[in-house]
Amino acid sequence: MPDRHYYTSLHRSMVATVILVSLMPMALITLIGGYQYTAAYKAKVLAHLGEIVRKHEQNIDTYLLEKVAEIRVLADNMGVSCFRDENKLQRLHQTLMERHGGDFVDLGLVNEHGMQVAYSGPFRLGEADYADAEWFREVMKRKVYISDVFLGLRGVPHFIIAVQFHSEGQRWILRTTIDFVAFNRLVENIRIGQTGLAFIMNRNGDFQTTPRLDLNAEIPFLKRLLDETENKNGPRLADGLVASRIAENPATGRETIYLSTPLKQGDWRLVYQQDATDAFSELVQTRNLVLFVLLLGTIAITFMAVLLSRRMIKRIKASDREKEMMNEQVIEAGRLASLGELAAGIAHEINNPVAIMVEEAGWVQDMLEEGMEKDGNLDETRRALAQIRTQGSRCREITHKLLSFARMIDPTIVEMQLNDMVEEIVGLSSQRTRFANVQVETVLAEDLPTIAASPSEMQQVLLNLVNNAVDAMEKDGGTMTITTKRDRDDVLMTVADTGCGIPKANLQRLFDPFFTTKPVGKGTGLGLSIIYGIINKMKGEISVNSAVDMGTAFTVRIPSSSANQKEERQGNE
Ligand code: ADP
Ligand code: MG
Repeated sequence: MPDRHYYTSLHRSMVATVILVSLMPMALITLIGGYQYTAAYKAKVLAHLGEIVRKHEQNIDTYLLEKVAEIRVLADNMGVSCFRDENKLQRLHQTLMERHGGDFVDLGLVNEHGMQVAYSGPFRLGEADYADAEWFREVMKRKVYISDVFLGLRGVPHFIIAVQFHSEGQRWILRTTIDFVAFNRLVENIRIGQTGLAFIMNRNGDFQTTPRLDLNAEIPFLKRLLDETENKNGPRLADGLVASRIAENPATGRETIYLSTPLKQGDWRLVYQQDATDAFSELVQTRNLVLFVLLLGTIAITFMAVLLSRRMIKRIKASDREKEMMNEQVIEAGRLASLGELAAGIAHEINNPVAIMVEEAGWVQDMLEEGMEKDGNLDETRRALAQIRTQGSRCREITHKLLSFARMIDPTIVEMQLNDMVEEIVGLSSQRTRFANVQVETVLAEDLPTIAASPSEMQQVLLNLVNNAVDAMEKDGGTMTITTKRDRDDVLMTVADTGCGIPKANLQRLFDPFFTTKPVGKGTGLGLSIIYGIINKMKGEISVNSAVDMGTAFTVRIPSSSANQKEERQGNE
């Protein structure tokens, strides 16, 4: 029966196979599906964000254009005299404020030398000189100018819209300050998720709005990233107008989405940033759910695999045990059969002494009737009784041997000397061999090492070989030679006969159970198969050499006890 180790490793490999086979497809599907889903989901979220940014960009552009258009209309239609009059200018400013909810903070008229001629607004800037201001130089060149946000003379962040127009043979500039707060709010409204954040930046990296968080430390990074993003052929969103990029934010150390789109003919850019985990928060949730289900599945599969294979191993174990019991029964049957063969020979042998005893007893009875006084009768009676005793003890010897063999069924392994066993079996079979006219010769090596074997099993091996040899020579008699020999660490034993031999066709089936050429009632076909089983168990070998009508020799090779110990030691190392 295989040992515990065998079943443990069988169990282990069964569990591993089941788990592998069922988890692999699950893991593959999750990986592939997850990858596809993630990519699709991210693309969708980015596209959505891109659309939002694009819409706001349009809103802001519209806002700026509206303001420019408003001033343009005033400048082109009212004439400079209207603006030069501070009262009229104030009324115009008032109208503008009413129409645009206070976006126009002030209104001023500047002549072509940069001197402010008239002003309406909350600041005291009546005679300001803008000749050196950048916006003034720009508007003299471009006719319309929207400045960056700056602190200017007033120390308040603002930006200027200035429009150039002709009147009274001169060039004039109508300028207005746009409320930074209102403008800032327009951008600040873009708020998505927890970390979504929008701002406007000019080409130099100066903020044009105040971001919700303090990003001043990140300006160099942002500027570099945005320049790069715009120039690169990265993924473009919203009809290709919004550049996108996912990069690690140095301030938070988190993956962050950056979207940027040009504003004000490219002077500014509207930037939107959001933590990737925030933007893809649903993705994280889905992933966690999938992982949870996966974990649950893995646990369930592992549990089932362990349970099922444990049950299976139990069954295998039971069937192994059953098989082994069957084997034991077959061996026992074979043992009884060989005993029967032996008994048949012995019965013949017992017949002779019994016949002598019967005859002698009759002889004594005759003499008793004649009377003991008669000459020589007493001596004769004594002789006859001595004969009866001799024959009787011969019978007892034979039956004793038979009994001792029949009782010997213990399979415990001991150290034994094969030569002794040979002599015992030869003695046990002597009656049978003599009856079959078989000469027995033994050539036993003196230096034969001991072997570790079960004596009852070795008896069966030897007895079966001897019985087969005698059977083969039953017709014409012959010689049986039993040889033992040492071959390095092995013990060799040959049982050779000069009997009928074995045809080639039978050689292959010789060791099959129930293969026999003997008539029913005589052969069982179990002898050699049992020998094979026993020798195999001892890690030995059995071979046969035969020629028809010449004879047969069976050779058994058994490792000696010392060889066994050596092997064990090597196995342990
Ligand atoms: P059984 O003796 O009951 O027939 P065995 O397994 O002992 O069964 O032997 C199987 C067959 O092998 C025998 O029937 C016989 O034909 C053949 N055989 C075995 N030993 C010899 C031998 N020494 N000489 C010739 N034939 C043999
Ligand atoms: Mg036999």
